[in-house]
Formats: sequence, structure tokens, C-alpha cells
Amino acid sequence: MNTAPPDRMIVTRFAPSPSGHLHLGHAHAALVAWDRARAGGGRFLLRMEDIDVGRCRPEFEQDIIDDLAWLGEGLEDFTWQQPVRRQSDCLEDYAAALARLDGMGLLYPCFCTRAHIRAEIEGAASAPHGSPHGPDGPLYPGTCRGLGGEERQARREGGESYALRLDMAKAVEMAGARMREVKEDGGLEWRDLGRDDEGKGVIAARPEIHGDVVLARKDIATSYHLSVTVDDHVQGVSLVTRGEDLFDATHLHRLLQALLGLDVPDYHHHRLITGADGKRLATRDQAASLRGLREGGVTPAEARKMAGF
Ligand code: GLU
Repeated sequence: MNTAPPDRMIVTRFAPSPSGHLHLGHAHAALVAWDRARAGGGRFLLRMEDIDVGRCRPEFEQDIIDDLAWLGEGLEDFTWQQPVRRQSDCLEDYAAALARLDGMGLLYPCFCTRAHIRAEIEGAASAPHGSPHGPDGPLYPGTCRGLGGEERQARREGGESYALRLDMAKAVEMAGARMREVKEDGGLEWRDLGRDDEGKGVIAARPEIHGDVVLARKDIATSYHLSVTVDDHVQGVSLVTRGEDLFDATHLHRLLQALLGLDVPDYHHHRLITGADGKRLATRDQAASLRGLREGGVTPAEARKMAGF
């Protein structure tokens, strides 16, 4: 498997979105990443995932840095490498990756609105096989996949906004053909340290569960999936630590790595911290925000304990 050699220096990252204040779930994620890097004598990075311009605010970025500094008070070496990578400064990297995928014939423009997709899916739901679902809900029904070149061009030139979707069937086929040059069954895999109990933690990637995903949104010309996969490669991240809720995303990220020839890190999908109601914490849970805890007199050491450290 094309994964990190065991002696590669451990590089981890904590990658929050500056769309609100950090809570105990973020604290857990940051501490896992830091702890893994420290245990391996490696490096810990911080990355601001701020491509979602509608939700992210620059002032939250400074708040995140302040909250993290507070969380690490009293720990000898809780620090992250500078400079902090900010996704909104790296749009050219994502555009270059998209251009490569486009050059491979794997992308197509999708002009559909959400309402249009919903209507298509509702129509398909009454068909005998219903509409297929992926990890994030019903899969895109493929409406724009078959548009002819002329129609695509006319609609683009007419100023209609569009997203870029990955033609999943083609992408899986191409990645499989490439992999077969180095591995007989052509299967994509990753090593997941959080699943070591199940067959040594080697997970077979099933990117097709995502269908024709959007890789460049209409509004921001990139996407979470494309950006993080490119970033982890550019930053030399060797161990991606992130919550269990993002486990399924890794199926797709592994495919993008194969198509773009990117390094394949190891992964550790960690548990999620839950609130008193047993549900995973969200930004709106002020009670669990690091700011709220600090203002309520909780010490950093107590907050770390609450975050599982
Ligand atoms: N920015 C994502 C979040 O705040 C994390 C992305 C990742 O770790 O891949 O949940």
C-alpha cells in the first residue's frame, strides 16, 4: 500500500473553520493532533479552513488562536508551527488541482439548483429502486452529466452559474487502472489508526458511495473535499487526525490522492465529544465553548480533562 513509511516524521494538523468559537469537541481534536505529533517527535500544524466565506469571519480566527493558547496553558510544548495556513490564501492551489482533474476529463459543469435536484430526487423516489443515498444524503441524480458540449458552452457563456462535479464512475475506473500498475487488484486503501482493532486498520476505500460529488462549489470555486486533500499534501501532513464524523469523507479523499498523485497520509478518526444530551457538540452549544468555560472560572487543565486529556 502506498502509505507513509513507518519512519516518516509525524506531521499532524488541527483544522478548524473560523465560523464560531471553539468548543470541547475542537479541544479534543486539537489535543489529539498535538499529542500524536509530540509522541512521535514530530510537528503539529494549525490550519484555518475559511473557504466558506458566508460563514467564516476573520475575528473568529484570532479568537481561535487565543482559545487554543489558553487551552495549552501549563503544558510545556503546546505550540503549532508558523505560519498558519489559511485556505482563502491558497485558492490557486485548488484551481490547479481542478485544472488537472478537468484535463483528465473527470469534471463536468452542473447548473442544477438545489430545488431542481430535490425535485429530481423526489421523482426518482417513487421509482421501483428509489433514489440512492450516500453519507450526506441522496446522491446527485446525474442530470448534467450527459449535457452536450455545445449546451454546456452556451449556458456557461450565458452567465449561468455552475458547480464542477466529479464523474465518479470515470474517476474510479481511472484510479483503478493506475493502481493496477502497482497492485494486482487495483484497490485503494488507507491505514486508519483509529480502527486498528478491525483487521490491522487497513480500510478499503469506497469512493463511489459519494456519487458525483461537487469539487468546486458555485460560490467558492473549491470545496471542503478538494481543499483539505490538497492542503494535507502541500503541508506534508503524515497523519490526519479528525473526528469520526469525517470517516466517510476519507473514501473520497483517497480517490483524489490517487488521481492527483498526492502523498497518502495515515488517518486516525477519533471519537466525538458529546454534550449532556448525548449528542455531539455543535458551535451553538455555548456551555461547552472554551470561552464560556474560561469565563465560568474553569482552568485550562480542567478544560483539557473535560476534553478527554
Ligand atoms: N474543518 C473541519 C472541521 O472543522 C475539519 C476538516 C478536517 O479535519 O479534515 O470540522
